[in-house]
Amino acid sequence: MSTDSDVVVVGAGVIGLATAAALARCGRSVIVVERNPGIAQETSSRNSEVIHAGIYYPTGSLKATLCVAGQKMLYVRCAERGIPHRKIGKLIVAAEVSEVAALEALCERGFANGLTGLEIIGREEVHRREPEVRCEAALVSTETGILDAHALSLSFLAEAESFGAVLALCVEVVAIERSSSGYRIRARDATGALTEIECAAVVNAAGLAGDALAERAGFDVDACGYRLRPCKGDYFALPPACGLRVSTLIYPVPADAGLGIHLTIDLAGRMRVGPDAEYVDAVRYEVDESKRVAFARAVRRYLPALDPASLTPDFAGVRSKLFGPGEPFRDFVIREESEAGFPAFVNLIGIESPGLTAAPAIAERVVELLSGL
Ligand SMILES: Cc1cc2nc3c(=O)[nH]c(=O)nc-3n(C[C@H](O)[C@H](O)[C@H](O)COP(=O)(O)OP(=O)(O)OC[C@H]3O[C@@H](n4cnc5c(N)ncnc54)[C@H](O)[C@@H]3O)c2cc1C
Repeated sequence: MSTDSDVVVVGAGVIGLATAAALARCGRSVIVVERNPGIAQETSSRNSEVIHAGIYYPTGSLKATLCVAGQKMLYVRCAERGIPHRKIGKLIVAAEVSEVAALEALCERGFANGLTGLEIIGREEVHRREPEVRCEAALVSTETGILDAHALSLSFLAEAESFGAVLALCVEVVAIERSSSGYRIRARDATGALTEIECAAVVNAAGLAGDALAERAGFDVDACGYRLRPCKGDYFALPPACGLRVSTLIYPVPADAGLGIHLTIDLAGRMRVGPDAEYVDAVRYEVDESKRVAFARAVRRYLPALDPASLTPDFAGVRSKLFGPGEPFRDFVIREESEAGFPAFVNLIGIESPGLTAAPAIAERVVELLSGL
């Protein structure tokens, strides 16, 4: 069997779907190929569902600029399309006096990244707003929110399909080679049958398999710096009976490969804490119950009333990191690969947090990269 389209997007996570919607909106014919039986079954459904403001990331980086742009686009999209969301804000708390300088540096970085709605408040004001939280000072971010991540992915799928895009589920891309029309994609369906798709352009939105997919297309992944370092984050839930009452998201000053074990509230009002950051050799999702003590210790620094026994293993997600423990910051890779000999091939690699927030802005960037090609 052979099919033709302008663009094949590999991966129906939030990034692939947002990209498919943006490309289809511009009149491109698009096929999205997804190996799982449904959309957004990997990292896009295993995250904190937070609309980040864009505080943490180095000024001028793609993570900063696309998070700030994406956050604004998301609020508009959520309002227009009825995607459940709430701008509930967040506090980043300095649990010790020694962390206040880091808090001030974060605030300055946030302003440099173009944010509004940032303010440092003292211990008494924090206590007035959130009586259960103990800290020396906190950075308030009013633009931070929560959303229904699956509804967001569905909205991108619906938009892509309304402009003629086609989604192929249970189909895994096993090879990509150059052809006279651009690229020939070989994909295997659930029965083992092979399909060939001819296309002019390819978007690699394969998430945790982004490096493997690039390798299948012929990229020297190590030379390009595209090798992913999966970094697992576990979450524990707090049952309603735990007695804690908070009205906003509470984050520590970041200290590890993630943003620190934070407390989130979802749209149903359920509280959970996580994720931690554990580099793993292979993607796996079981929650390690023995981490309960370490989680409780981390959270009790700012929520002393937390009863460790109330923490219930919830779920895990895996970050597609481009840097290992102790290594310097790496930005998102969002690259049209003509220079490497792969014209109209766009690699989206290392799209870890804030990828959910940045998704609509990443999609616009891909449209720009492919315009005229
Ligand atoms: C613990 C955790 C918490 C996070 N919290 C937040 C947050 O609060 N806010 C935020 O903005 N971001 C957050 N993120 C980041 C965000 O979740 C990701 O950036 C985003 O979901 C990445 O989406 P994706 O489409 O790239 O990947 P995925 O959702 O993993 O999608 C990739 C898809 O590609 C498919 N695929 C792979 N290989 C093939 C192949 N060969 N053929 C066919 N299909 C293939 C996979 O099956 C998968 O469905 C968090 C991430 C983690 C891990």
